[in-house]
Amino acid sequence: MDLRPKIVVIGSLNMDLVVKAVRAPKRGETVMGEEIHFIPGGKGANQAVGLARLGAETTMIGAVGSDAFGEKLKKALQKDGVNTSSIKVLDSEATGVASILLAEGDNSIVVVPGANAQCLPEDLDRYEEKITEADLVLLQLEIPLETVEYAIKLARKHGKTVMLNPAPAQNLSQDLLSKVDYLTPNRSELALLTGMSEESTIAKGIEQLLEVGVSCCVTTLGAEGVAFREKGGSLVKVSGNKVPVVDTTGAGDAFNAGLAYALAQKESIREAVEFAVQVSALAVTKFGAQGGMPTLAEVEKFQE
Ligand code: ADP
Repeated sequence: MDLRPKIVVIGSLNMDLVVKAVRAPKRGETVMGEEIHFIPGGKGANQAVGLARLGAETTMIGAVGSDAFGEKLKKALQKDGVNTSSIKVLDSEATGVASILLAEGDNSIVVVPGANAQCLPEDLDRYEEKITEADLVLLQLEIPLETVEYAIKLARKHGKTVMLNPAPAQNLSQDLLSKVDYLTPNRSELALLTGMSEESTIAKGIEQLLEVGVSCCVTTLGAEGVAFREKGGSLVKVSGNKVPVVDTTGAGDAFNAGLAYALAQKESIREAVEFAVQVSALAVTKFGAQGGMPTLAEVEKFQE
């Protein structure tokens, strides 16, 4: 019998095109770049890779175009053992792309959602069986909101735990929030969701989300760690782990993967948060979002 936790990730796949140049072009100007990298990304895919490296039986539901990027993204997931049979391949849309220009110590990013915008509620009906088999359903906000809403409805219908990473930041209805078991905003997402400034206390923001009906709010605070609170409980803070930082891209994705993995293993929320803090600390010691996701063996070694 396979005792690995089963997790379904419903979300985005993007190819990140990272271009390095000495300076950014002015309007209408052409400049020569120095380097280009094609890096598999998208919050959904990053979190799916994170989960699979930890050992979860991971299925991804999403959409790519029938182009070379789509093929590469699926292969990257398969290499880590993510089940990609529920990723739809579209002739009518290009694979999602994030075009990232690194110049003068700054980055400017253009995201074209492409096929991600065609990850639709009807796809979830087609893959409902995957949801019925899962221990936990993990979502982000890089696919249409109506799909996220429908996914939550289906997951709840089947009695599944719902975890929503509300990134990139956007406003969400009280109705949607009230159906989420675990909400994982970072500091700025918490501010946007609650309408509070980032300077106002984290505790107040979390309290507001619990009042709206979120069962447990876990807010990540970068290097500082995490603050979380469950309905009926009090605020708990967990410090970040001190590590040599190489690249913080995907820290949040690694955290979500770690948290979902541990919760699906029926760990307590405190244990799950501590585990996710370790997973995300290890992730920032390596380059790349998917590339930086640690294996379970690496996390266990780090714990020694
Ligand atoms: P996001 O990447 O979504 O903005 P955060 O920056 O809050 O999310 O990071 C998520 C988690 O990753 C943090 O809660 C922390 O555990 C870990 N983390 C992030 N940056 C660092 C760092 N510099 N050192 C150690 N851990 C980090």
